[in-house]
Amino acid sequence: MSELALRAEKLDSADELAGVRARFVLDDVVYLDGNSLGALPAAVPERVEDVVRRQWGSLRIRSWGESGWWTAPERIGDLVAPLVGAAAGQIVVGDSTSVNVFKALVGAVRLAGGPESGRDEVVVDATTFPTDGYIAESAARMTGCTLRAVTPAEVPDVLSERTAAVLLNHVDYRTGRLHDLPGLTSAVHAAGAIAVWDLCHSAGALPVGLDAHGVDLAVGCTYKYLNGGPGSPAYLYVRREHQDRFDSPLPGWNSHAEPFGMRTSYAPAPGALRGRVGTPDILSMLALEAALEVWDGVSVEAVRAKSLALTDFFLECVSAYVDEGRVECVTPRAHAERGSQVALRCENADDVMRRLIERGVVGDFRHPDVLRFGFTPLYVGFADVERAARILGETLI
Ligand SMILES: *Cc1c(COP(=O)(O)O)cnc(C)c1O
Repeated sequence: MSELALRAEKLDSADELAGVRARFVLDDVVYLDGNSLGALPAAVPERVEDVVRRQWGSLRIRSWGESGWWTAPERIGDLVAPLVGAAAGQIVVGDSTSVNVFKALVGAVRLAGGPESGRDEVVVDATTFPTDGYIAESAARMTGCTLRAVTPAEVPDVLSERTAAVLLNHVDYRTGRLHDLPGLTSAVHAAGAIAVWDLCHSAGALPVGLDAHGVDLAVGCTYKYLNGGPGSPAYLYVRREHQDRFDSPLPGWNSHAEPFGMRTSYAPAPGALRGRVGTPDILSMLALEAALEVWDGVSVEAVRAKSLALTDFFLECVSAYVDEGRVECVTPRAHAERGSQVALRCENADDVMRRLIERGVVGDFRHPDVLRFGFTPLYVGFADVERAARILGETLI
């Protein structure tokens, strides 16, 4: 056994999260794509079976009350809350991330006063996941604002008394760079603007601290590090002090103060409920609720510590096993700037990833030349990391 394989064995036996892997359905594939689709938690199939057969099949309409369907968005929001550093009552689950970006961004411009008050600019991360950029362009146009797309590093320089809202990603989906959420949020506040954060690549992988850092609004998906399943509903955080003034651009009947009053005029519900729109997607939502049980007794701090140890070890193994010059790491080395993935630039990256997958190492390819490896500390171990790097080295000979 090589020195690195021995080290991996030792690290795995000292790993306090090693036992959590048994809460997932996995095989001997090295699964490094949990930042795209988290693995299946073992409790989910049985729960979904119960929701379909008993709750829907036999209780039918009664389940809206008796099975807690109606209140699922806020109940499950409260399960997500501690994972992103939010007190209860500020998160609702539902709709996709794209839709929640729209609600949050238009809501943010309205909170800021918008063009009538002289705040007529929306700032967006130019390197963002495309959907956020598309939605930001439309949200800016609809609210009469100009969109300014800049890199997160340039954000402080473009903020002014004209800035209404700023949409940023906590972790860059391509490079895995972790942005300075506390610092950028304070800079946005110093300019009198509203900060909206997209947590898709950080929630479930590292501490976010929404309440502690004064974040105004946030969104994120639940099918990456939160393992909610394909297309599981996203979430929207509206900071408690903004809730009374949060004016959703999608005021559906589920966010009405009296949804069953069937009134012709809209009156918003108090609290986080304002983020709801229409009838929730119950099957996906209750699968997510079961999936979140894997977090019982797990601290996000322990997850972060293991995540950094895994990515450090991966980088070390890549240096040892991959011939010099074949890959270039685009993920920052500094812990303070690293999310839970490692992105390696490589020639013919799409073909290399195809060959890795054939050999049981699953990561993904991101256009144009990036091999992306996501590390979910709940189920990835150090031996997996060593094997992935070794097979990468063999693939690149
Ligand atoms: C994954 C991801 C999304 C996904 O949006 P959907 O509406 O769920 O398709 C959006 N934004 C970012 C930054 C992401 O990483």
